[in-house]
Amino acid sequence: MAEKPSKKSDSKVTPSYDIVDHSYDVVVVGAGGAGLRATLELAQSGLKTACISKVFPTRSHTVAAQGGISAALGNMGDDDWRWHMYDTVKGSDWLGDQDAIEYMTKEAIPAIIELEHYGVPFSRTPDGKIYQRPFGGMTTNFGEGTAQRTCAAADRTGHAILHTLYQQSLRNNAEFFIEYFALDLMMEDGACRGVVAWNLDDGTIHRFRAHRVILATGGYGRAYFSCTSAHTCTGDGNAMVLRAGLPLQDMEFIQFHPTGIYGAGCLITEGSRGEGGYLTNSEGERFMERYAPSAKDLASRDVVSRSMTMEIRDGRGVGENGDHIFLHLEHLDPKVLHERLPGISETARIFAGVDVTKEPIPVIPTCHYNMGGIPTNYHGEVLTTVNGDPDKVVPGLMAVGEAGCVSVHGANRLGSNSLLDLVVFGRAAGKRCAETLQPGEAHKPLPQDSADVALERLDRLRQADGETATAAQRLEMQKIMQNHAAVFRTGDVLKEGADKLEEAWKLRDDVSVSDRSMIWNSDLVETLEFDNLIYQAVATVHSALNRTESRGAHAREDFTERDDANWMKHSVVWVEDNGKVRFDTRPVHMNPMTNEVQAFPPKARVY
Ligand SMILES: Cc1cc2nc3c(=O)[nH]c(=O)nc-3n(C[C@H](O)[C@H](O)[C@H](O)COP(=O)(O)OP(=O)(O)OC[C@H]3O[C@@H](n4cnc5c(N)ncnc54)[C@H](O)[C@@H]3O)c2cc1C
Repeated sequence: MAEKPSKKSDSKVTPSYDIVDHSYDVVVVGAGGAGLRATLELAQSGLKTACISKVFPTRSHTVAAQGGISAALGNMGDDDWRWHMYDTVKGSDWLGDQDAIEYMTKEAIPAIIELEHYGVPFSRTPDGKIYQRPFGGMTTNFGEGTAQRTCAAADRTGHAILHTLYQQSLRNNAEFFIEYFALDLMMEDGACRGVVAWNLDDGTIHRFRAHRVILATGGYGRAYFSCTSAHTCTGDGNAMVLRAGLPLQDMEFIQFHPTGIYGAGCLITEGSRGEGGYLTNSEGERFMERYAPSAKDLASRDVVSRSMTMEIRDGRGVGENGDHIFLHLEHLDPKVLHERLPGISETARIFAGVDVTKEPIPVIPTCHYNMGGIPTNYHGEVLTTVNGDPDKVVPGLMAVGEAGCVSVHGANRLGSNSLLDLVVFGRAAGKRCAETLQPGEAHKPLPQDSADVALERLDRLRQADGETATAAQRLEMQKIMQNHAAVFRTGDVLKEGADKLEEAWKLRDDVSVSDRSMIWNSDLVETLEFDNLIYQAVATVHSALNRTESRGAHAREDFTERDDANWMKHSVVWVEDNGKVRFDTRPVHMNPMTNEVQAFPPKARVY
């Protein structure tokens, strides 16, 4: 049962906003795979839990995940979680924390079986086991063979998982606040006390007081012009953390997916290459054989994206402007396409006008995933660096999913490891709350002005009467990011990007919002989201400029080598309210959690 809210109007600054108060043991912000998995765990543990989401839960971006979710089940050949761990460490280019990676790859196996028992309709092998397909970077015997490790529900795995988790959460009486837009955290003496949200449907403001707030707000792909993620992927939680004076981590690492549809950005899953698809240039050459002789088209995403960009730059791109590449599926058995890749056949038809059984799909590397985010330990507790302590836990605040940086993906994420990250760490965060909280623990009263920071910002943007529309400012920022912080980077290009962003930051004072209402004001929502995005754009460009090496997805043409002596560490970045950045670093955890596996020392990059 939803708690009966109390009506108040105690804000000092903005008395015109009526505030509705709620108290929960835990509040989860976000109802994607990570938020729902945490919510389900919490609801099962008896903690009074609210889940807030700006979109209906099953419309979260997780619904779009196609290819699958990894786990060393060994259903289609030998497998071992240690091989999965090695692949993940290698894929991260040795920037991933090995304790968290051990936890994720080991817990993957029970976490997937659990999903199966919750009712996820996985595709099956003829003998009834969960079907598993090969994905880039997934090997057997520490790099020797190809592992079939990615569990799939056709090419709609995220859809299947999200619907199942939502249904299970409802079954366990989790309380949902749907189409509530979280504005800012309520912080007191360095601890998180709750979150302020705006009910888009009736215009009311809500203060959610909680012993723990779990941010599961997803990535910030919309900082770029071409991206595979939903319009709602604006990294709101990351920006709330920055505004609370806390840092983000490893923001320079952005994964570009090799196969976004040229023009539209929509994703064609890596599973299409897993099923036998391949790339060609304007000479019809299968060029990946040259760049990655053994893994070829299934080399890791950064390698394939860079190889494609190199072909285009060297004048071997396809199309009128020679600015993209072809992905071929037309040689595959139509039955395989129909059974295993029905979603992408439809996407290619709608967004590229291509019949995949007859013609190749025009594709281009597209912003797909944010490795960086809110730094956490493997329990999901948010960390900050204070007085030489790199792992200081921020009381009351947790983060999971793409918003978090736990860091299992390090400098680059392997395909199918994100859905895994969501369920493993969503579950871990729920368990941590259950271990450290008693249901119904008493709350301290909130300070009178706890909602003021959030309301001041809301009110300022709501009344904004400058000259430039939010959409124009957003487009400007997206183009800067696309041109200055994409697949290939140099100091000069990044510096120019940083300068342009500084100008774009100043322009925020000139933003115009035409709708002043509080009910379904999409103009104001987009303005709040843009404001969130630009904080992260600044963090990304400056972190990329700061890291003078090439590692994983971060490829610097002026520093082409990985520099373990100076850069085997996480970047930690703060963005102040004036748009200026401040840096620190955190050591990479090079040791695993248990003695069931040995540490994987860094190896040279060989593909
Ligand atoms: C097209 C595509 C295909 C992918 N395919 C795969 C794949 O096959 N395998 C794989 O492992 N990974 C895949 N990924 C990556 C993976 O799907 C994402 O990283 C993951 O789904 C992110 O989940 P999440 O729970 O962190 O966030 P999301 O699913 O993005 O959910 C974010 C939630 O936060 C809420 N929220 C955000 N801001 C606010 C706010 N201000 N107030 C209230 N609520 C808010 C939203 O309403 C939403 O419920 C894919 C990604 C894309 C874009």
